[in-house]
Amino acid sequence: MYFVEVILPLSLAKTFTYRVSEAEFHFVKKGMRVVVPFGKTKMYTALIIDKHQNEPSLYEAKEIDQILDENPIVTEIQIAHWQWIASYYMCAIGDVYRGAMPSALLLESETIISQKPSIAVDESVLSDEEFLIYQALQQQSSLRIQDITAILNKKTIFPVIQKLIDKNILVLQEEVQELYKPKLVRYVRLHSKYDSNSGLSELLETLKSAAKQREIVLTYFQLFAKEKQPISVKKLVETANSTSSIVKALIEKEILEEYFIQEDRINFEGNAQETALQLSEPQERAFNEINNRFEDKEVCLLHGVTSSGKTEIYIKLIEEQLATGKQVLYLLPEIALTTQLVGRLRTYFGDKVGVYHSKYSNNERVELWRQVIEKSPKAQIVIGARSALFLPFSDLSLIIVDEEHEQTFKQVDPAPRYHARDAAIVLANAHQAKVLLGSATPSIESYFNAQSDKYGLVEISERYGKVQLPEIELVDLKDSYFRKKMTGHFSNSLIESITTALSLGEQVILFQNRRGYSPIIECLTCGNVPQCQQCDVSLTYHQHKNQLRCHYCGYSMAKPTHCHSCSSIDLATKGFGTEQIEQELQSIFPNATTGRMDQDTTRGKFGFEKIIDSFKNQEIQILVGTQMLAKGLDFNNVSLVGIMNADTMLYHPDFRAFERSFQMMTQVAGRAGRSEKQGKVVIQTYNPNHNTIQQVTNNDYIGMYKEQLYDRQIYKYPPYFRIIKLTLKHRDFDKVKEGAMWLYQVMSQNLNMPVLGPEEPPISRIRNEYIRTILIKIPQTAPIGSSKKTIQKMLTSFESVPQYRPIKVAVNVDYY
Ligand code: ADP
Ligand code: ZN
Ligand code: ZN
Repeated sequence: MYFVEVILPLSLAKTFTYRVSEAEFHFVKKGMRVVVPFGKTKMYTALIIDKHQNEPSLYEAKEIDQILDENPIVTEIQIAHWQWIASYYMCAIGDVYRGAMPSALLLESETIISQKPSIAVDESVLSDEEFLIYQALQQQSSLRIQDITAILNKKTIFPVIQKLIDKNILVLQEEVQELYKPKLVRYVRLHSKYDSNSGLSELLETLKSAAKQREIVLTYFQLFAKEKQPISVKKLVETANSTSSIVKALIEKEILEEYFIQEDRINFEGNAQETALQLSEPQERAFNEINNRFEDKEVCLLHGVTSSGKTEIYIKLIEEQLATGKQVLYLLPEIALTTQLVGRLRTYFGDKVGVYHSKYSNNERVELWRQVIEKSPKAQIVIGARSALFLPFSDLSLIIVDEEHEQTFKQVDPAPRYHARDAAIVLANAHQAKVLLGSATPSIESYFNAQSDKYGLVEISERYGKVQLPEIELVDLKDSYFRKKMTGHFSNSLIESITTALSLGEQVILFQNRRGYSPIIECLTCGNVPQCQQCDVSLTYHQHKNQLRCHYCGYSMAKPTHCHSCSSIDLATKGFGTEQIEQELQSIFPNATTGRMDQDTTRGKFGFEKIIDSFKNQEIQILVGTQMLAKGLDFNNVSLVGIMNADTMLYHPDFRAFERSFQMMTQVAGRAGRSEKQGKVVIQTYNPNHNTIQQVTNNDYIGMYKEQLYDRQIYKYPPYFRIIKLTLKHRDFDKVKEGAMWLYQVMSQNLNMPVLGPEEPPISRIRNEYIRTILIKIPQTAPIGSSKKTIQKMLTSFESVPQYRPIKVAVNVDYY
């Protein structure tokens, strides 16, 4: 008898055995997909990870339904990597498989499909079966795969549906809600009427009396002859020194016609720009050092101040790899940043750059997946957010992790809760590829690894073009409030600086951390925020209990009536947001145009890009925003950055609060003065002498690093301890409370390491589920594998207690 071992796309840790015929057995390879029945009626797309002749002893193996692929679409390196992720991050292999693949490659009987909206379908290219499905969708807006089985009256329908998705006719229901649309660029071409040359002279003749329109048409010809590339309206107008209303007139006359291309999917015909990139001397030095480090290190950390030109160094490194024909992966922390970068990379590498992230449509993701597995030159370089890590690379030679300190590299929900930077290092190892981590403010963990010689370290301390780092002015809020030098949340100094910048035609960024909403109690006289006695964090205000609580150890106290530091009774609960800042701004500067970038304003499809664009085009003079602003954006006319209140970041209840505050302030400050003129940063704070604020002011990364490292050791946090966070959820308050206590007790009795909790988080109920958390700290010296095994065993015995079985437990390894 012949069998295949498969992974199912379900939250199941086990693999399953299915029967195949002898012929099928000889045909299938690891990494091919098969459709299999599971449970009473369901069908799933499973992945073959092995084939063998060992009959399972516990159950009778069912037969597979059909084989979907002719060649593997997942590599053996990937399978091994996914298994590593499952074991390291303590989740089911099925979770990794499900999270890794575009969902269009994972059709199942429950999948719902629809016709892609507003698309013209050429019915003549459809096969009979495809046509039947297409026709059914004209009557019904969506269909389940099961319905289609009935329509076609056969079982093996996944390949037909796959083809329709590949043809861009069908989409999965889940995507209909939120199809990601990157920015569209407007292009023009000559109307198809003029395809033959004969019409041309006639055309110019008719435009004889419309000189401006004629000029545009002539410019179009010149540009097209020279560049042989699509011509954007912007470029045409600029070159002809004309206006877009004249182009519009030509479109109305049907001489030109407009069309749109997504900015990051523009195909460059011909070669990429020949203009070689010239590295500055410090860049050149860093570039050579990185290559030297790579001789005996697998990972190198590039610590270069903001605007030191790290991107250009990445480009040079990629260039070296291109000639070898090997693949390069470039990871970014934020989808919204890809557009900016893709443009920059395509200038050098033309159509060798592929883009991948979870917000792309299935069709686009499947297309790139196929290009990568075929080792197509079109995907030799892949840029993407963290999920790009799961693509089927076969021959990677370099992975770049830009802004490696960003917490968005860590997936929170659902499982697999992996850290893309760390998982990238493991992946690179399997390919014998190198990893470059880049940041102006490296994470403590990465810098520690560099200091302890695990990673190579290369530093650049000056900005490109010798532009100076911004000058930082601290404004003492306590003093300003006392002397009545405040208008709302704006100090007089900040107002003056904004006035100056505006009068010079320069732009301003005001930063107000979203985290400012997290409730803490602050003394209005001295700025004191009550801290936990046992942990280095602020206490969080819980209104319903009128209590201050520690997020980490469970310590709590009644809400104080006066400040424990200065006895003042002027206490305030804290949290002011971007919206209020923008309102105040409008009343102080009624003539300035303002914009706001936070979760509320960027929720829409184009939200983020729209705001970035109008700021770049200088339609917005003052931009107010949250930490989204801190992520590697390059604006050249910003001369002033204001940080409205540094303290809300500092006192966030988290062991990384000081590290993050330093990173965030340094990164936003880095948006100021990126070209020529030195920029300015105004930081408003109650604590101008706080070590972290001083470290930001003096650009003292090392000072911040040493201090934090010391604290991390004392308070048992990374890099000295690995943190595993368990989150328990259930609708029944008492059940989850008891269950958490049970689990905590078992853990603390059986683990020879700190176990904290069970803690009720500040947001203790989400979607009607009550939450409890437990924190396990595994010392770096303890054997990590066996500690996790012990933990897993206890989780399994927890599940076997009948009254606790319904409690959901999420395991977050290396919790960020
Ligand atoms: P970082 O990523 O280190 O903050 P960037 O790579 O964004 O810095 O570079 C900052 C600015 O300097 C960008 O506008 C970039 O185009 C410019 N720049 C950096 N290096 C060069 C170079 N070698 N030649 C031309 N421009 C450069
Ligand atoms: Zn505490
Ligand atoms: Zn006080």
